[in-house]
Amino acid sequence: MEYTHRFRARPNEEVAAALTRHIDIHRQAYNHTRYEYENLPSDTDTIGSAYKHHKRLTEWKDRFPVFSEVHSKALQRTVTRFYDNLGNLSDRKAAGYNVGKLRWKPPREYRSMTYSQSGFELKNTSGQTATLWLTKIGDIPIRYHRDIPDEAVIKEVTVKHEYTGEWFVSFALEVDDADLPEKPPIDELEAGECVGVDLGILNYIHTSDGLSVGKLDVEAEYGHLRKAQRTLSRREQGSENWEEQRRRVASIKRRIRRKVLDFQHKLTTWLVTEYDAVFVEDLDVKPLLEDSQNARNKQDAAWRQFITLLQYKADLHGCHVKQVDPENTTKQCHECGVKTDKPLWVREHSCPSCGFLLERDWNAALNVLERGLRKLGLGQPEVQRLLETGAAVDATHRESVSASAVVEAGSPTERKGSPGLNEAAVTAE
Ligand SMILES: [Zn+2]
Repeated sequence: MEYTHRFRARPNEEVAAALTRHIDIHRQAYNHTRYEYENLPSDTDTIGSAYKHHKRLTEWKDRFPVFSEVHSKALQRTVTRFYDNLGNLSDRKAAGYNVGKLRWKPPREYRSMTYSQSGFELKNTSGQTATLWLTKIGDIPIRYHRDIPDEAVIKEVTVKHEYTGEWFVSFALEVDDADLPEKPPIDELEAGECVGVDLGILNYIHTSDGLSVGKLDVEAEYGHLRKAQRTLSRREQGSENWEEQRRRVASIKRRIRRKVLDFQHKLTTWLVTEYDAVFVEDLDVKPLLEDSQNARNKQDAAWRQFITLLQYKADLHGCHVKQVDPENTTKQCHECGVKTDKPLWVREHSCPSCGFLLERDWNAALNVLERGLRKLGLGQPEVQRLLETGAAVDATHRESVSASAVVEAGSPTERKGSPGLNEAAVTAE
C-alpha cells in the first residue's frame, strides 16, 4: 500500500535559496518538456511517453548546462510529472469535462520538485525533529511530528514552497503488503473490540461504546479568515499589499487545515489501535443534512479526510474498517428496529414502540456497529453475541471528551491526570 506523510521544513537561508533555484530549473524543464511535446514531430521516437522522453535529457544537458545543476533522477521525475498531468487531463476529458491544453508554468504556479528513488536520505529521526538530506542541496531540518514506520520504504520526496513562504516536504511511502500486520480473523473477533462510529453534527464522533468526542473549535480561526478575506477584497488586485494579504489568507487557511488534520490523525490512530474493527457510515450515500450548503461542504470534506485516514491506518495497524449504509441510522431504534422521525434538535432517542431511551448519536453508533458486523459477513447469532456482550448499553457508561483534550493528550482515553500518568509521576519522585 502507498500513502503520504507531510512535514513542515525549515531550511536555512542558503538552502532555501538553493531549493528555490532548483525548483525554478525544474519549472524550465517542465516547460521545455511541454514545448517539445507540442512542437516536435509526433513520430519522433523520444516523444510521447515519460519513459521515451527521458532519453532526451542527455541532449538537453549538452545544450542547456543549467539542467546539469539539478539531480538527474529528479529531472526525469519532472518530465514524468508533465506526462502525469497530461494523463490526468485526458482522464478529465474522458469524464466529460471541457479541458484545454497544459499551460506554460510561470514561477508562481510551479512551486515543487520531487526526488524519486535516489538522492535523498532521512536522518536523525529521534524526537520531534529530523533532517532530510538532498543531493546537490544539503540538509533540511523538518518538524518530525509523526513517525514514518520502520517497514515503510520512502519512494519519493517532494519539496514544496507554499504561497505563504513556508516549506513542506512530503514523503511518498510504500509498505509491502507482506509486512502489514495481519487483521484478526473475523470469526475470532471479540465483543468490545468492535466499534461503530457515528459522525455527528454536534459531537464530532460518538462511539457505540458510549464515548463522545466534541467538535474541534475552529470558530476563532474562521473569524480571522473572514476578516482577512474582507481586507483582501478591498485591496487593489495585483498590488504589493494585495499580494501580502493573499499570503496572509493562505496562511490562515493552512492553519485551519493543519489543526483539523492533527485532530483527525489522533482520533483515527486511537480508533485503529484501540479496536480490531471500526465501522463508519458511507458518506457517498448519506442523505443531505438540514444544514447550510457551505457548512455542509466543510463538514463533508472533513469527514472524507477522516475516513481516508481511517482506511490507510486500518491496513497499517491490522484493523478492519468498513463503511456501512447510513440510511436511517439515526431514525431506527437499535433495540426494536422501529423508525421514528427525529428533527435535528431532538438529542435523545426515545422509542415510542419499545421505550428504549438513549442519546441520539449513541443509538446511531450502535446501528452502525450492527451493520458493520453484518458487512464483515458475520451471521445473526455472531452479530447478536458481539452486540450483547460488547455494547452493554448502560447510560452511566457514557463519557464525553472535548476535542482539545484529545489534541493535548493524543487520544480520547489518555488524559492528563489519568491514573497512568500519576503513577509515572510518583515513580519519578
Ligand atoms: Zn424501540
